[in-house]
Amino acid sequence: MKINQKIKKVAFIGMGLINSSLARDLKIKKFYLSSSAYSRRLSTINKIKKLKLVDFASSNIEKIIKEADIIIVGIPVAAYQEVFKKICNNIKPGAIITDVGSVKKEVINSVKKYIPKNIDFVPGHPIAGTENSGPESGFAGLFKNGWCILTPNKNTSKNSVKIIKYMWQLVGMKVDIMDSNYHDEVLAITSHIPHIIAYSIVGTITNLQTTIKKEVIKYAASGFRDFTRIAASDPIMWRDIILYNRQSILKMLNLFKKDLSKLEHAIENNDDKFLLNLFTKTRKIRKEIIK
Ligand code: NAP
Repeated sequence: MKINQKIKKVAFIGMGLINSSLARDLKIKKFYLSSSAYSRRLSTINKIKKLKLVDFASSNIEKIIKEADIIIVGIPVAAYQEVFKKICNNIKPGAIITDVGSVKKEVINSVKKYIPKNIDFVPGHPIAGTENSGPESGFAGLFKNGWCILTPNKNTSKNSVKIIKYMWQLVGMKVDIMDSNYHDEVLAITSHIPHIIAYSIVGTITNLQTTIKKEVIKYAASGFRDFTRIAASDPIMWRDIILYNRQSILKMLNLFKKDLSKLEHAIENNDDKFLLNLFTKTRKIRKEIIK
């Protein structure tokens, strides 16, 4: 396969929010000549067909990956092993497998034994998404201007990395290559811990007395509303992300707890300077991110 030649066949394993958005964009960009998608449930297959996301959709995974040049895995990370085990003997020699999973190191370790020698695995993580799930939630343009992180190892062919990099650039992403462990640490603090905080704070509300709970929901302004949006993310996907990135998450959670204790201490001691300093610093960070 060459970077400037049309890809003959792309196979999508899973057609949720991420893979269906990618399928929409790649179809518009005419990245491939034909496409197929595997999904477990008949109801999802029917949605894929209705939305005309690919040329062929089925729950027969062997048929879906047959003759595919690129296989894109977009399912919850705990389901990878089962799927890789099923497909490993039927992948076309020279094909590339890539994925969109939010955790890298442990997930890569869990599947590497299933990947044949003549196949390149180029793990990827597009940092884009919403709290919604399923093929009907995807949309063209989801990835525009975002970052995609690829975590190949030193033995992965440069050409395969180039092709996958080109694919993400085609749908509007900037691409970084990173070590998988470093990726997981960065994502633990930028994405996974914020989700844990949201799940935790919205959980606290559910434990409040009924009267207070009613008022909280009634008067929920942007702060709490933002937390509920994040806490509405797919439960299975997030259970898997957190358990597969346990080590990095626990490390970052420890740092966060220390800082939270300092904040608590400042509130107890009416330490106005501490609060003002912290809030001024964080406001600056927000402005930098938006810029
Ligand atoms: P989603 O919308 O919930 O869709 C999940 C897909 O996975 C469905 O096609 C589902 O098929 C399939 N699936 C679920 N369990 C499976 C299993 N045990 N075996 C085989 N297929 C299974 O998910 P998504 O949001 O697109 O996320 C997919 C991947 O992208 C995850 O690894 C996630 O970490 C990563 N990611 C997500 C986001 C985000 O914001 N959502 C952002 C970046 C990366 P059926 O419908 O047929 O059951």
